[in-house]
Amino acid sequence: MYDKKSHNAEEFISHEEILETLKYADENKDNLKLVDEILEKAKLGKGLTHREASVLLASNQRDEEIFALAEKIKKDYYGNRIVLFAPLYLSNYCVNGCVYCPYHKKNTHIPRKKLSQEDIKNEVIALQDMGHKRLAIEAGEDPVNNPIEYILESINTIYSIKHKNGAIRRVNVNIAATTVENYKKLHDAGIGTYILFQETYNKESYETLHPTGPKHNYKYHTEAMDRAMQGGIDDVGLGVLFGLESYRYEFAGLLMHAEHLEAVYGVGPHTISVPRIKKADDINPEEFDNGIDDDIFAKITACIRIAVPYTGMIVSTRESAECRARLLKLGVSQVSGGSKTSVGGYFNPMPEKDDSAQFDVSDRRSLDEVIKWLMELGYLPSFCTACYGSGRTGDRFMEICKSQQIQNFCHPNAIMTLKEYLEDYASADTKVIGDKLIAKEVETLGDLQSKVKENLVKIEKGERAFKF
Ligand code: SAM
Repeated sequence: MYDKKSHNAEEFISHEEILETLKYADENKDNLKLVDEILEKAKLGKGLTHREASVLLASNQRDEEIFALAEKIKKDYYGNRIVLFAPLYLSNYCVNGCVYCPYHKKNTHIPRKKLSQEDIKNEVIALQDMGHKRLAIEAGEDPVNNPIEYILESINTIYSIKHKNGAIRRVNVNIAATTVENYKKLHDAGIGTYILFQETYNKESYETLHPTGPKHNYKYHTEAMDRAMQGGIDDVGLGVLFGLESYRYEFAGLLMHAEHLEAVYGVGPHTISVPRIKKADDINPEEFDNGIDDDIFAKITACIRIAVPYTGMIVSTRESAECRARLLKLGVSQVSGGSKTSVGGYFNPMPEKDDSAQFDVSDRRSLDEVIKWLMELGYLPSFCTACYGSGRTGDRFMEICKSQQIQNFCHPNAIMTLKEYLEDYASADTKVIGDKLIAKEVETLGDLQSKVKENLVKIEKGERAFKF
């Protein structure tokens, strides 16, 4: 039975409720009266239920309005800011059998690598020298090679490295589902968001796609965010791997998961990622039947934006610059830049054929190129990590975000962290464009304008880490 407050995965992500939702969406996709009512509700900017949002996704009747509304909500909640991050692959040892991932255990020809603490230092310095302040650490699941102690030690190492003006101020963590006890340890290590992709919400497909290893356990995987919350981590990041199952099923499941977290813990997901399956070592995306084209991908992004306005959305370098530009407009608020998806790839880039990469990166531009491109598109790149540093996480963050107050912190912080980037890492071209942008953006600030102007002068003189 469907119960969003249940702690049982099969009740808060009820298969029957998803099938009912898809049927309801099919029956109503041309019901203009209902579609318009849902759009009117969505305009209030307070979100939609999984059923309502599924009707919008199924309907082709009001696509222009849906896209325009997603753009408006994006602007209202996030302004023109885009947060930057990079993934850091710690280890590709893995005991699971995920059929879409080249790190699966049976892959014997991929080079297996695990970073030592010294290697991590080199990677982090390379990342700091690019200008990164926020990382997402990634590792395969392997209790022997990648135990929690290794992950904790690595987080500690990452935070400890201070090189020139560089510092990693927020480490998000994308590791396999684990115990409450381990989530407590991750929380105590000062992580930002705990990210875990569900891959698919369809239990039967999930079990087929994860035939072996601990990840085979659908219930344990799907209830991971509950355990993370119980362990004190109040910023969690959801996602499905689009291409594995029917996208409308995943969309409904994803929103039900968000509703469950909100209902039980009073705080929905901090982020939702939208990865699509990509070519990788021994993985051919063509072999998966549920691939989605760019138009459907854009529609999904717009509908997520409308359904959960206060949840950040992430798109990685799996996608091309062109595709990313389209999604940024419709709702994405965070992008990775200059990414390497191989273990050790920042300090020691490998020729592609020897690569231990998890998947092919489509957007291969440097971070500086991505920053310049974002600014040319009218965005304000942000390296801000202040909310996390000031304890504005979980429900405290959501409260401020829902009342659209977050702009009062984020906008000045984005300006100041961009200024730091321009002073320390930008190419001459990027700096010229950035300084012009900052001059314009500062004028849009209210009460904080003179304080920000003062801080910008101090940043030019070498001071760092200003925040509101
Ligand atoms: N091992 C961890 C786990 O079990 O959740 C997470 C780390 S894994 C490095 C990060 C994500 O990459 C996976 O959750 C999966 O969705 C995604 N991924 C795996 N293979 C992929 C592929 N071929 N193309 C695109 N994304 C892929």
